[in-house]
Amino acid sequence: VSLERLTEMTATANVDGLTHAFNKRFVMQRLAEEIRRAQDENRSLAVFLFDIDHFKHYNDRNGHVAGDQVLRQLSRLVQENVRQDSLFGRFGGEEFVLILPGADKEKGLAAAENLRRLIAEHPFEFAADQPLGRVSVSGGVAACPDDATESSGLLRSADEALYAAKHAGRNRVLASVARYLGAEAQEPVEPVDFQVSDEPEAPSLLRGEEAATRRLERDTHDPDETTPLGSIRAVK
Ligand code: GH3
Ligand code: MG
Ligand code: MG
Repeated sequence: VSLERLTEMTATANVDGLTHAFNKRFVMQRLAEEIRRAQDENRSLAVFLFDIDHFKHYNDRNGHVAGDQVLRQLSRLVQENVRQDSLFGRFGGEEFVLILPGADKEKGLAAAENLRRLIAEHPFEFAADQPLGRVSVSGGVAACPDDATESSGLLRSADEALYAAKHAGRNRVLASVARYLGAEAQEPVEPVDFQVSDEPEAPSLLRGEEAATRRLERDTHDPDETTPLGSIRAVK
Protein backbone atom coordinates (compact mmCIF):
# COMPACT_ATOMS: atom_id res chain seq x y z
CA VAL A 1 0.00 0.00 0.00
CA SER A 2 1.06 3.57 -0.61
CA LEU A 3 2.00 5.86 2.26
CA GLU A 4 -1.00 8.00 1.47
CA ARG A 5 -3.36 5.05 1.66
CA LEU A 6 -1.71 3.86 4.87
CA THR A 7 -2.20 7.28 6.46
CA GLU A 8 -5.81 7.25 5.36
CA MET A 9 -6.37 3.76 6.78
CA THR A 10 -4.84 4.73 10.12
CA ALA A 11 -7.03 7.82 10.32
CA THR A 12 -10.12 5.76 9.55
CA ALA A 13 -9.21 3.18 12.20
CA ASN A 14 -9.12 5.89 14.87
CA VAL A 15 -12.49 7.39 14.04
CA ASP A 16 -16.04 6.30 14.77
CA GLY A 17 -17.87 5.87 11.47
CA LEU A 18 -21.22 7.30 12.57
CA THR A 19 -20.14 10.45 14.39
CA HIS A 20 -16.58 11.02 13.12
CA ALA A 21 -15.52 11.41 16.72
CA PHE A 22 -12.39 9.52 17.73
CA ASN A 23 -13.03 6.02 19.02
CA LYS A 24 -12.42 4.92 22.56
CA ARG A 25 -9.19 3.07 21.88
CA PHE A 26 -7.64 6.12 20.26
CA VAL A 27 -8.91 8.52 22.92
CA MET A 28 -7.49 6.37 25.72
CA GLN A 29 -4.13 6.31 23.99
CA ARG A 30 -4.13 10.06 23.46
CA LEU A 31 -5.40 10.79 26.96
CA ALA A 32 -2.44 8.99 28.49
CA GLU A 33 -0.10 10.99 26.24
CA GLU A 34 -1.79 14.30 26.98
CA ILE A 35 -1.66 13.67 30.74
CA ARG A 36 2.04 12.93 30.50
CA ARG A 37 2.60 16.12 28.54
CA ALA A 38 0.50 18.19 30.93
CA GLN A 39 2.55 16.93 33.85
CA ASP A 40 5.85 17.53 32.08
CA GLU A 41 4.82 21.09 31.27
CA ASN A 42 3.21 21.64 34.65
CA ARG A 43 -0.15 22.39 33.06
CA SER A 44 -3.59 21.16 33.90
CA LEU A 45 -5.93 19.10 31.75
CA ALA A 46 -9.67 18.63 32.04
CA VAL A 47 -11.95 15.87 30.81
CA PHE A 48 -15.67 16.22 30.20
CA LEU A 49 -17.56 12.94 30.08
CA PHE A 50 -21.16 13.19 28.98
CA ASP A 51 -24.12 11.03 28.05
CA ILE A 52 -27.36 11.80 26.22
CA ASP A 53 -30.38 11.91 28.51
CA HIS A 54 -33.25 9.47 27.96
CA PHE A 55 -31.83 8.31 24.67
CA LYS A 56 -33.56 4.96 24.89
CA HIS A 57 -36.83 6.89 25.00
CA TYR A 58 -35.76 8.79 21.88
CA ASN A 59 -35.00 5.60 19.95
CA ASP A 60 -38.12 3.81 21.13
CA ARG A 61 -40.28 6.70 20.11
CA ASN A 62 -38.63 7.91 16.92
CA GLY A 63 -36.66 4.95 15.66
CA HIS A 64 -33.02 4.07 15.41
CA VAL A 65 -32.44 6.07 12.23
CA ALA A 66 -33.62 9.28 13.91
CA GLY A 67 -31.48 8.36 16.92
CA ASP A 68 -28.42 7.99 14.71
CA GLN A 69 -29.14 11.41 13.26
CA VAL A 70 -29.10 12.92 16.76
CA LEU A 71 -25.75 11.25 17.46
CA ARG A 72 -24.33 12.71 14.26
CA GLN A 73 -25.75 16.21 14.73
CA LEU A 74 -24.80 16.40 18.38
CA SER A 75 -21.23 15.34 17.57
CA ARG A 76 -21.03 17.97 14.89
CA LEU A 77 -22.34 20.63 17.25
CA VAL A 78 -19.64 19.73 19.77
CA GLN A 79 -16.86 19.58 17.19
CA GLU A 80 -17.83 22.99 15.81
CA ASN A 81 -17.82 24.61 19.23
CA VAL A 82 -14.59 23.50 20.84
CA ARG A 83 -11.02 24.65 20.48
CA GLN A 84 -8.82 23.02 17.86
CA ASP A 85 -6.56 21.45 20.46
CA SER A 86 -9.36 19.60 22.22
CA LEU A 87 -9.99 15.95 21.51
CA PHE A 88 -13.50 14.63 21.07
CA GLY A 89 -14.29 10.95 21.34
CA ARG A 90 -17.22 8.55 21.36
CA PHE A 91 -16.89 6.22 24.31
CA GLY A 92 -19.88 4.01 23.75
CA GLY A 93 -23.40 4.17 22.35
CA GLU A 94 -24.41 7.65 23.47
CA GLU A 95 -21.52 8.48 25.74
CA PHE A 96 -18.84 10.95 24.71
CA VAL A 97 -15.66 12.42 26.10
CA LEU A 98 -13.94 15.72 25.50
CA ILE A 99 -10.30 16.17 26.50
CA LEU A 100 -9.27 19.76 27.10
CA PRO A 101 -5.49 20.17 27.36
CA GLY A 102 -4.46 23.18 29.43
CA ALA A 103 -7.87 23.62 31.07
CA ASP A 104 -8.23 23.49 34.84
CA LYS A 105 -11.47 22.35 36.45
CA GLU A 106 -13.07 25.77 36.31
CA LYS A 107 -12.29 26.25 32.60
CA GLY A 108 -13.35 22.68 31.89
CA LEU A 109 -16.62 23.25 33.68
CA ALA A 110 -17.23 26.46 31.74
CA ALA A 111 -16.58 24.71 28.41
CA ALA A 112 -18.82 21.80 29.46
CA GLU A 113 -21.63 24.10 30.51
CA ASN A 114 -21.41 25.97 27.22
CA LEU A 115 -21.78 22.72 25.28
CA ARG A 116 -24.60 21.49 27.51
CA ARG A 117 -26.53 24.69 26.83
CA LEU A 118 -25.86 24.56 23.06
CA ILE A 119 -27.16 20.99 22.94
CA ALA A 120 -30.23 21.72 25.07
CA GLU A 121 -31.09 24.67 22.81
CA HIS A 122 -30.44 22.89 19.52
CA PRO A 123 -33.60 22.12 17.52
CA PHE A 124 -33.11 18.37 17.16
CA GLU A 125 -36.03 16.66 15.46
CA PHE A 126 -38.67 15.35 17.92
CA ALA A 127 -36.85 17.07 20.81
CA ALA A 128 -40.14 18.24 22.34
CA ASP A 129 -41.27 14.64 22.79
CA GLN A 130 -38.40 13.90 25.17
CA PRO A 131 -39.17 13.62 28.90
CA LEU A 132 -37.38 16.93 29.54
CA GLY A 133 -38.89 18.57 26.46
CA ARG A 134 -35.52 18.68 24.74
CA VAL A 135 -32.55 16.56 23.75
CA SER A 136 -30.05 17.10 26.53
CA VAL A 137 -26.91 15.67 28.05
CA SER A 138 -25.64 15.13 31.56
CA GLY A 139 -21.94 15.28 32.23
CA GLY A 140 -19.10 15.30 34.67
CA VAL A 141 -15.86 17.24 34.63
CA ALA A 142 -12.62 16.16 36.27
CA ALA A 143 -9.18 17.67 36.09
CA CYS A 144 -5.59 16.58 36.30
CA PRO A 145 -3.85 16.97 38.72
CA ASP A 146 -6.72 17.93 41.12
CA ASP A 147 -8.69 14.69 40.82
CA ALA A 148 -6.18 12.22 39.50
CA THR A 149 -2.92 12.03 37.64
CA GLU A 150 -3.67 9.09 35.40
CA SER A 151 -6.40 8.27 32.88
CA SER A 152 -8.45 5.71 34.74
CA GLY A 153 -8.68 7.77 37.92
CA LEU A 154 -9.51 10.89 35.94
CA LEU A 155 -12.27 9.16 34.00
CA ARG A 156 -13.57 7.55 37.16
CA SER A 157 -13.84 10.99 38.80
CA ALA A 158 -15.63 12.40 35.76
CA ASP A 159 -17.95 9.39 35.73
CA GLU A 160 -18.86 9.90 39.39
CA ALA A 161 -19.82 13.48 38.60
CA LEU A 162 -21.78 12.35 35.52
CA TYR A 163 -23.64 9.83 37.64
CA ALA A 164 -24.45 12.53 40.20
CA ALA A 165 -25.66 14.83 37.39
CA LYS A 166 -28.09 12.14 36.21
CA HIS A 167 -29.41 11.69 39.73
CA ALA A 168 -29.74 15.42 40.27
CA GLY A 169 -32.23 15.60 37.39
CA ARG A 170 -30.19 15.44 34.16
CA ASN A 171 -29.48 18.25 31.65
CA ARG A 172 -26.63 19.51 33.82
CA VAL A 173 -22.90 19.22 34.29
CA LEU A 174 -21.18 18.78 37.62
CA ALA A 175 -17.56 19.00 38.57
CA SER A 176 -15.99 16.11 40.35
CA VAL A 177 -15.44 16.99 43.98
CA ALA A 178 -11.81 16.47 44.84
CA ARG A 179 -11.58 14.10 47.77
CA TYR A 180 -9.76 16.52 50.03
CA LEU A 181 -12.14 19.44 49.49
CA GLY A 182 -15.17 20.64 51.45
CA ALA A 183 -17.39 18.15 53.19
CA GLU A 184 -15.21 15.34 51.90
CA ALA A 185 -12.50 16.50 54.28
CA GLN A 186 -14.72 15.61 57.25
CA GLU A 187 -14.69 12.00 56.18
CA PRO A 188 -11.82 9.64 56.80
CA VAL A 189 -10.00 9.59 53.51
CA GLU A 190 -10.54 6.30 51.77
CA PRO A 191 -7.65 4.71 49.97
CA VAL A 192 -8.05 5.35 46.28
CA ASP A 193 -7.27 2.28 44.27
CA PHE A 194 -5.80 3.87 41.20
CA GLN A 195 -4.91 1.44 38.49
CA VAL A 196 -1.30 1.41 37.57
CA SER A 197 -1.84 0.55 33.94
CA ASP A 198 -3.99 2.39 31.46
CA GLU A 199 -6.20 -0.37 30.19
CA PRO A 200 -7.94 0.75 26.98
CA GLU A 201 -11.20 -0.67 28.26
CA ALA A 202 -10.79 0.56 31.83
CA PRO A 203 -13.43 -1.38 33.77
CA SER A 204 -12.88 0.95 36.72
CA LEU A 205 -15.68 3.30 35.65
CA LEU A 206 -18.26 1.12 37.34
CA ARG A 207 -16.61 1.54 40.68
CA GLY A 208 -17.40 5.24 40.46
CA GLU A 209 -21.12 4.52 40.72
CA GLU A 210 -20.71 3.15 44.18
CA ALA A 211 -18.74 6.18 45.31
CA ALA A 212 -21.17 8.59 43.68
CA THR A 213 -24.10 6.86 45.33
CA ARG A 214 -22.46 7.19 48.70
CA ARG A 215 -21.81 10.85 48.04
CA LEU A 216 -25.43 11.37 46.98
CA GLU A 217 -26.59 9.83 50.22
CA ARG A 218 -24.43 12.21 52.20
CA ASP A 219 -25.66 15.13 50.09
CA THR A 220 -29.34 14.50 50.78
CA HIS A 221 -29.74 17.84 52.52
CA ASP A 222 -27.38 19.63 50.23
CA PRO A 223 -28.70 23.09 49.27
CA ASP A 224 -27.48 22.29 45.75
CA GLU A 225 -30.57 20.15 45.38
CA THR A 226 -32.52 23.31 44.62
CA THR A 227 -30.04 24.29 41.93
CA PRO A 228 -32.03 25.27 38.85
CA LEU A 229 -31.94 22.97 35.87
CA GLY A 230 -28.65 23.04 34.12
CA SER A 231 -26.78 25.41 36.35
CA ILE A 232 -23.24 24.75 37.48
CA ARG A 233 -22.49 23.61 40.96
CA ALA A 234 -19.59 25.54 42.42
CA VAL A 235 -16.39 23.56 42.62
CA LYS A 236 -15.72 24.55 46.22
P1 GH3 B 1 -30.07 8.11 30.78
O1 GH3 B 1 -30.73 9.43 30.75
O2 GH3 B 1 -30.04 7.53 32.17
O3 GH3 B 1 -28.73 8.11 30.15
O4 GH3 B 1 -31.02 7.12 29.96
P2 GH3 B 1 -30.79 6.52 28.51
O5 GH3 B 1 -32.09 6.04 28.00
O6 GH3 B 1 -30.05 7.49 27.65
O7 GH3 B 1 -29.78 5.34 28.83
P3 GH3 B 1 -29.82 3.80 28.47
O8 GH3 B 1 -28.43 3.32 28.79
O9 GH3 B 1 -30.98 3.13 29.14
O10 GH3 B 1 -30.07 3.72 26.92
C1 GH3 B 1 -29.12 4.11 26.01
C2 GH3 B 1 -29.72 3.93 24.66
O11 GH3 B 1 -28.86 4.42 23.65
C3 GH3 B 1 -29.97 2.49 24.31
C4 GH3 B 1 -29.80 2.43 22.83
O12 GH3 B 1 -31.07 2.33 22.24
C5 GH3 B 1 -29.23 3.79 22.45
N1 GH3 B 1 -28.07 3.69 21.57
C6 GH3 B 1 -26.82 3.28 21.88
N2 GH3 B 1 -26.03 3.30 20.78
C7 GH3 B 1 -26.79 3.75 19.75
C8 GH3 B 1 -26.54 4.01 18.36
O13 GH3 B 1 -25.44 3.84 17.84
N3 GH3 B 1 -27.59 4.48 17.62
C9 GH3 B 1 -28.82 4.69 18.18
N4 GH3 B 1 -29.78 5.17 17.39
N5 GH3 B 1 -29.08 4.45 19.46
C10 GH3 B 1 -28.08 4.00 20.25
MG1 MG C 1 -28.07 8.08 28.21
MG1 MG D 1 -25.23 5.73 28.46
